[in-house]
Amino acid sequence: MTSQEIIALVKQRNPNEPEFLQAAEEVILSVWPVLERNPEFVKLRLLERMLEPERMITFRVTWLDDKNNVQVNRGYRVQMSSAIGPYKGGLRFHPSVNPSVLKFLAFEQIFKNALTGIPMGGGKGGSDFDPKGKSDAEVMKFCQAFMGELARHINHRLDVPAGDIGVGGREIGYLFGAYKKIKNEFTGVLTGKGIGWGGSLIRTEATGYGLIYFAEHMLQEKKDSIKGKTCLVSGSGNVAQYAIEKIIHLGGKVVTASDSNGFIYDAAGITQEKLEFLKDLKNNRRGRIKEYADTFKCEYQTLDANQNQNPIWNIKADCAFPCATQNEVHEKDARNLIKNGVKLLAEGANMPTTIDAINILIENGVMYAPGKASNAGGVATSGLEMTQNYMGSSWTSEEVDAKLHVIMKDIHQACLDAAKVYGKPGNYLVGANIAGFLKVAKAMQAQGVI
Ligand code: NDP
Repeated sequence: MTSQEIIALVKQRNPNEPEFLQAAEEVILSVWPVLERNPEFVKLRLLERMLEPERMITFRVTWLDDKNNVQVNRGYRVQMSSAIGPYKGGLRFHPSVNPSVLKFLAFEQIFKNALTGIPMGGGKGGSDFDPKGKSDAEVMKFCQAFMGELARHINHRLDVPAGDIGVGGREIGYLFGAYKKIKNEFTGVLTGKGIGWGGSLIRTEATGYGLIYFAEHMLQEKKDSIKGKTCLVSGSGNVAQYAIEKIIHLGGKVVTASDSNGFIYDAAGITQEKLEFLKDLKNNRRGRIKEYADTFKCEYQTLDANQNQNPIWNIKADCAFPCATQNEVHEKDARNLIKNGVKLLAEGANMPTTIDAINILIENGVMYAPGKASNAGGVATSGLEMTQNYMGSSWTSEEVDAKLHVIMKDIHQACLDAAKVYGKPGNYLVGANIAGFLKVAKAMQAQGVI
């Protein structure tokens, strides 16, 4: 079988799933040289097996809103791979959630989790429920109804979900409370829990901080650092907030942030004080980012999600960190980034860059890090939360941050090593896919045809 034949097969088996096909194609093409060197992997059809979820659960979620109207949503859990550990991956609550989006996320999660060095399989789940504009009571009722079904399919040794878009500390609290009540047990079945009830210090910060640690290692390869660099960040949620914070800590300047309505351009730079305003706006008051521009008198521009171009990427800068959602950096954006002098793009979000845009960045010598490597700090720290829960103890911030540092350094090195062995030195995309794939493939080979 050729790589193109496998791509054709995936297309035929998964029609109308563009996000899943995009993620699948990227991995198939990068790992193909591994299959050519290891014919036994082809014979065992390991890649085709990884592309098929081990189990996929779809369920109805019925709940009552504040006006006592019945609401109906759809819930999902994709249990993609348990080759190296229990299924692990976030829950996303957003109207755009569908099987294609969750299968792409679960598939990416397999390789990301393998890269962390912690034994975790790949999964993802969520719902088309939109927490925006809902009261706390409505979010709680939805979370309880959602967990009413999900609880049958997860436990702390089988499948351990976490947060993602639309699922933060508030939602994890309600989901955990519901699980505890249904199962009558207090176990680490979810990560991202509150510090006083089984959560890990640094988990909230981990994806954003880890992203910037990874970028710092990339820059160090060129004898450079983030200090003094002008940076573009998209998003203003969990990942964006802590990426901005770590860039500030390391002496860089962040000039942008966004939400689904628009973006701010603060040429003077987002300071820690302005960032605290942004955190309060987004995490507590759940407002729109335009309020930042009104308060600090900087530029604001609305965004049109249907355009295949995003003006946030047309601002002069040294580094870019897409931290909002999938497919937010298009071909034209990649050209604008290059024109404006951007030398590094590291993904905080999952698959924010289209395949065409990635190719343009790499061809033009931009250092590019795929999310499965550069945003793995979040799930790695979830893994550390699971370990602390199993041990029944908790580590200090310094201990967790030090472990996160080591994990990001090791992932960076694993990407470089695999890329070199396969004749693509410095190509983090190929390196991440191959290093992750090899670990999972060897585990599947050892466990037989199951
Ligand atoms: P949040 O919900 O905290 O924030 C998401 C941000 O992106 C918000 O600013 C949101 O705007 C914006 N956004 C969401 N959807 C869209 C859209 N369709 N178009 C434009 N903007 C959008 O999520 P996270 O920060 O947790 O996640 C962001 C990305 O990082 C996702 O791709 C996620 O999968 C990935 N990720 C997250 C990890 C984590 O630990 N949280 C770990 C690894 C990856 P608005 O406020 O308007 O909704």
